[in-house]
Amino acid sequence: MEAYDPESDDVGIVVKREPNYAQPSESDSLLTRAFAHGEGITNGVDAPTPLKIAVVVTGIAGSYLVNQLGWDHEVTGFERHQRKKFASMCPWATNKHAVAKFAQRCDVDLEDRILHEGRRMVTSVGGLEVESRLRGFVTFDKNGLTRDMLRGQKVRYGSWISDESDLKGYDLVVDATSLRVLLPKIESHELWMPSVQYLVEYERPPFDDFRVQVLDGLGGYLWYFPLGDGSASVGAGDVNKGHVKAIEAFFRLHGGKRGRPDGRAVRLCPPRYCQPFASGRVVGVGESIGAVFALLADGVVPALECSELLVENVRDLGGYRRKVLKKFAFYETAYDFFLPVFQGRIGLVEQASLSQSILSHVLADQSRYGVELQPTRMTIEPFELIKQALSFAKMLRT
Ligand SMILES: Cc1cc2nc3c(=O)[nH]c(=O)nc-3n(C[C@H](O)[C@H](O)[C@H](O)COP(=O)(O)OP(=O)(O)OC[C@H]3O[C@@H](n4cnc5c(N)ncnc54)[C@H](O)[C@@H]3O)c2cc1C
Repeated sequence: MEAYDPESDDVGIVVKREPNYAQPSESDSLLTRAFAHGEGITNGVDAPTPLKIAVVVTGIAGSYLVNQLGWDHEVTGFERHQRKKFASMCPWATNKHAVAKFAQRCDVDLEDRILHEGRRMVTSVGGLEVESRLRGFVTFDKNGLTRDMLRGQKVRYGSWISDESDLKGYDLVVDATSLRVLLPKIESHELWMPSVQYLVEYERPPFDDFRVQVLDGLGGYLWYFPLGDGSASVGAGDVNKGHVKAIEAFFRLHGGKRGRPDGRAVRLCPPRYCQPFASGRVVGVGESIGAVFALLADGVVPALECSELLVENVRDLGGYRRKVLKKFAFYETAYDFFLPVFQGRIGLVEQASLSQSILSHVLADQSRYGVELQPTRMTIEPFELIKQALSFAKMLRT
């Protein structure tokens, strides 16, 4: 199959090959070689200005980068879908205050894309139901937002790139595919949360606001996110693969007309274990390098924060790496906490100190998450609680 030629105006070229993680050669530019070693430009090497940058796929991180890098560089986005069919998986839930500031930098008003503004969220864990007040937690039209960010930008729709060598003539290739399609696979520590979701229409919606149900084994959760027009995004993700069972039980209880299933596995492995961030001309961003926190349904904001670090450090990938590791260091704590839980190896002392640190992290930055941790209501379902306590005790014994 023919490789993508940047000089051609053709779109729709699908190039599928085994990934080839090219190492820099003598003929590569100094810039490329510097990037390959993750150290960027040092020692007074003159970088070509502007850089010619390819951003592979236009999810949330990719769209933001096409827009923002486009101020100083010559940027092209590559998206596998045709423009008309372009769709990301679902209406997304997030803290609007955190996303709005990134949208503003792209001259986009997030308010235009908000579907439902939450007032409260009910979280159930075992037999405990906790209601919390929400401060800016919303569902928004992710497709609409990325379309807004890409307006007037150069994007080649219908082009699926699976090998960086298909992109000739670019100084830098950004892997924003979430799956590291262009970067080397992660050797160890990879951990995924499989997930599935449905767009559901209701004649009478079972709930009027956000609901989350933590699944047995603490490996994931089921969500009900209202979309403002009587429909909802209902989905579940679970490291222990109990998500399908949980979601079927939800539909048996609450009914609703569901659309086609959608979903994929979300990366739980934190940035420290998602290295290298750069290889050859390729640099990763967002979920590709673990800059998401799926266990708290927090993917959009960290992916944007990570993208901003790349915008600021696009000529210094060593600096980018250091800043990403620092910014998302907390995700390592969370990973170290949850891994033994998922594997059924729970050291109680260790768990207590780690849960304390996770709680402090969220408490210290409640406005960032858009959720108040001060509960407004708590109810206990004794039978469920006893069931959970017994299964927890069983887990501790094994
Ligand atoms: C079912 C589900 C629900 C989620 N809900 C939320 C939520 O409510 N709130 C939240 O903050 N986060 C949510 N997330 C996580 C969030 O989507 C991502 O972690 C976040 O968007 C990361 O941004 P990104 O730009 O790195 O990747 P993405 O925004 O996922 O963009 C990656 C892009 O790569 C493309 N792509 C990936 N693989 C391939 C392939 N093999 N071929 C071609 N194209 C490919 C995709 O089409 C997509 O456009 C959810 C994830 C899933 C799977």
